[in-house]
Order: sequence, then C-alpha cells, then structure tokens
Amino acid sequence: MKKSLIVITGASSGFGSEMAKIFNAAGYPLLLLGRRVAKIKELPLNFDSVLVKEVDVTNLEAFQNAITEGEERFGDVDLLINNAGVMLLGNIGEQNPEEWKTTIDTNIIGVLNGMHAVIEKMKQRNGGTIINISSIAGRKTFGNHAVYAASKFGVHALSETIREELSSSNVRIMIMAPGAAETELLSHTSSEKIKSDYEAWKESMGGVALNPYHVAETVKYMYEMPQNVTIREVLIAPTKQDS
Ligand code: NDP
Repeated sequence: MKKSLIVITGASSGFGSEMAKIFNAAGYPLLLLGRRVAKIKELPLNFDSVLVKEVDVTNLEAFQNAITEGEERFGDVDLLINNAGVMLLGNIGEQNPEEWKTTIDTNIIGVLNGMHAVIEKMKQRNGGTIINISSIAGRKTFGNHAVYAASKFGVHALSETIREELSSSNVRIMIMAPGAAETELLSHTSSEKIKSDYEAWKESMGGVALNPYHVAETVKYMYEMPQNVTIREVLIAPTKQDS
C-alpha cells in the first residue's frame, strides 16, 4: 500500500507527538508543524520521511507554505490532523480578554486555516481526509470552560458543515473528541486555583486521565478505514470520567 502524506499540527507535545510516533512507525511520510520545532526534532522518529516546519497555525500564509513544501517532497496531503489547540480556562468576568482571542484564533481560525490550505486539492482529486481534534467540551459545557467550550463547539459545527459540503467529493471530515488526558494542555491556564481544582477533579477519576497513546491509536483506526467509510465523530474518555 502506498502511504501518502499526513500533516499533524501541534506535534511538539501531547496527542500530536503520540500521533507522529504512531504514524511514523507505520511508515507514513509526515509533515509535522508547531512553534517549538526543537521539541518535535527530539521525538524518537525515523526522520527520513519527516519534514518539520515551524508554523503558528493562526498564520495562514506560513501554514500554506509549509504544506506546499511538504507536497513538493512527499506528494499530495491525504490526511490533515488539525490537533493544535490551547485550553485557557477562566471565568470571563476575571479572565484577561487576550486569552479569549488566543483561544478562538488557535482553536477555530487555526483549524479553518488548515482546512482552507488542503480542501480545494482534495476536492479536485476526489479524496482525502481531515480529522479535527475537538473535545468532549465541544459536546457539553463545564464550569470555567466558556471560551474553550465555545471554540470546541465551533470545531464540531464547522466540521459537520464542511463534511456535508464535501461528502459528494469523497473527502472525509472526522471529529475526534477526547475527555481529560495527560498532556501539557492544562499548564497554560493562568489561574492557579482553576488548575488545582482541575487536578482535584482528576483525582476523583483515580488521578490519571487518558493516555494520549490511546487517542492516537483511535485516530489511526479512524483514518485507516476505507475511503467510503467516515467515522464522523468519536468521543473517548477515561472510564471514571462521569461528566
Ligand atoms: P498540549 O498542550 O500537550 O499540545 C498542544 C499542541 O498545540 C502543542 O504541540 C502546541 O505546540 C500546539 N499549539 C498550540 N498553539 C499553537 C499555535 N498557535 N500554532 C501551532 N501549534 C500550536 O495539549 P494536547 O495534546 O492535549 O492538545 C491537543 C489537542 O487536543 C487540542 O486541540 C486540545 O484542545 C485537544 N484536547 C485535549 C484534551 C486533554 O485533556 N488534554 C481533551 C480534549 C481535547 P507549540 O506550543 O510547539 O506550538
């Protein structure tokens, strides 16, 4: 089976790193994007078939240029995983509004930028897959998650709309929506109280949330289904997560 190019945003940590490892081990050529490229270059990968580019997903031009470079080296993008995201939890009465902007720019505009960069070519060649990483917070609300939940509800909404638009072109749009997982995501929230409350919530699930490896394995399974099968959405969470 010929393996085609996979693009993963936010490959420097968490789910992105795990997906990079799993797809690399399976022999797919990869274009790995993120701002901290030194961290991506430290991953235990076979770099013969990997291109790493420093891209902020909010920058459409940089995103497009990286994809053009990846396609020149490895051929057309067959899978784009819009994984890069931030979770800046807060109560909007107290939170710095800059955090709202960063969240919406990264979690929504970043996803749209990625889709814009690949969709027309996928339509033309009647194939391709985009997997957007949303969240259970894109399905239901949680305290202090107002802007994060708004961004992830947005990812659900835009993904489903575009899925409907592209289905006749044989392009698959899928949503992976995890629950709490062990990554760096919470570390960027600025409120120490919210962070410690979140850790206490995790304690109620036995102290350990999802291993990113299991999310990455599930994404690979979704992708490797035949092109005429679209797993539209997966919600995956720790068994002991009750919300
Ligand atoms: P991490 O914080 O470990 O990883 C986030 C990744 O996003 C990093 O690689 C970071 O790379 C990248 N990123 C953030 N902002 C930008 C940007 N502007 N441009 C490019 N890359 C960016 O968290 P996760 O692995 O958990 O997060 C991955 C996705 O999973 C996110 O969309 C998140 O919302 C979602 N998710 C996470 C859950 C969890 O509990 N962990 C649960 C549900 C969903 P760099 O800083 O190098 O640019």
